[in-house]
Amino acid sequence: MSRRKCIALIAHDEKKDDMAAFAAQHEKVLSQAKIVATGTTGGRVLEACPGLDVTRLKSGPLGGDQQIGALIATGEVDLLIFFVDPLTPMPHDVDVKALMRLAIVYDIPMALNRATAEQLLDFAAD
Ligand code: PGA
Repeated sequence: MSRRKCIALIAHDEKKDDMAAFAAQHEKVLSQAKIVATGTTGGRVLEACPGLDVTRLKSGPLGGDQQIGALIATGEVDLLIFFVDPLTPMPHDVDVKALMRLAIVYDIPMALNRATAEQLLDFAAD
């Protein structure tokens, strides 16, 4: 039996409404997967879709992005969906860069905006 896919979800503050709407729109596909998320993002996704299997890690600025990076390094994440806010300076910018770097190193599909995420999930649903 193949293991369930693991999808990592992260959204910066200005993008959290978008992430909640995205999760609600794709609830059926997401319900087939195990979700890991940074703390606040995971909370918003669970509010929108209480039935999803979401593991909430630390909040991004407190190490959540690095936790997801570690899960990528150990082969546990199959897809990274990260709604990045390009217009706001972040105290944890270096963590964000490190996470993206690991997604590239381990060749994980990575969506950094909603349009790409839609394409990836449509593909996964086919
Ligand atoms: P958060 O973290 O979901 O806990 O807000 C996301 C981030 O800012 O990296």
